[in-house]
Amino acid sequence: MIEVKNLSKSYGNVEAVRDVSFSVGADQVLGFLGPNGAGKTTIMKILTGYHFPSGGSALVDGISVEDDPVEVKKRIGYLPENVPLYGDFTVDEYLAFAADARLIPRGERKKRIKACLEACALADWRSRKIETLSKGYRQRVGLGQAILHDPPILILDEPTNGLDPNQIIEIRSLIKELGRRKTVILSTHILPEVEAVCGRVLILNEGRIAAQGTAEEIAATMKGGDTWELILKGARAETIKAKLPLLGLSAASSENIEDGTVYLSFFVPAGSRKDITSGERIFDWAVACGLKILGMNRKKLSLEDIFVKLTA
Ligand code: ADP
Repeated sequence: MIEVKNLSKSYGNVEAVRDVSFSVGADQVLGFLGPNGAGKTTIMKILTGYHFPSGGSALVDGISVEDDPVEVKKRIGYLPENVPLYGDFTVDEYLAFAADARLIPRGERKKRIKACLEACALADWRSRKIETLSKGYRQRVGLGQAILHDPPILILDEPTNGLDPNQIIEIRSLIKELGRRKTVILSTHILPEVEAVCGRVLILNEGRIAAQGTAEEIAATMKGGDTWELILKGARAETIKAKLPLLGLSAASSENIEDGTVYLSFFVPAGSRKDITSGERIFDWAVACGLKILGMNRKKLSLEDIFVKLTA
């Protein structure tokens, strides 16, 4: 659906996007995650045909954003960070105005507006002036205009920015629902948002891709991934450490001894075979070494840990 190759974009001497490549298939939800200024909005503006790239290429449904931005816009629904809504309009009037701008044929307008109102749960608010709506409902109107022409692709720039926690939950579930039938790219700097909504994530930092994949895939490629924390009894720390190679590990990352109890932790080596680090294997190892396990806990590398490691 979307194919981006070696994309770059400079504003004067600011290199906002540098050599970015990724693709998104049909009905996938991809999250752009990155600190402010990472280049998320710039990539979105290129994909939606509002900015031209300085280098590289971006294809939307096989169409180059540079060669035919109008055709690209037909296939994309875009929710910019600040949606240009007109407070004086009612929801109905605004959607009719957006339908005009989208050149939706007259015969289809009523049907499309009705579908939008339903998809965004706005039917009861259709006669309300936009200026009287809460921020969450205004965001729904923004989403409504983005899906009005029933595009196969949605690009949503920080869709939950500035909403309260209840509104965030509502908009996220709406996006998830839309993502079942559409390809969605959304940007955010909120980590739980990516985990809640996106199948895949692309972490951007200073215009470059720092990592991409599912959160689990990214964690697996990172040095020092998950951590096992064990509490063992029955031998001195040195003896326990000497037995670690039996577990396929060369060393512990930390150990601590208190009253003959050894607190041991080690990283799951990146790319290691699963059985090396399974709880069952650790249990067998401890029994074979005559150790008592008082506690064992596998701490998964969270998206937050990954984000901090990659962008700090
Ligand atoms: P993000 O969406 O991740 O916050 P942006 O794509 O908005 O990042 O910005 C990336 C970089 O490009 C930033 O350094 C920003 O200041 C710069 N930038 C964005 N838009 C413009 C512009 N129109 N003119 C000049 N610099 C810009």
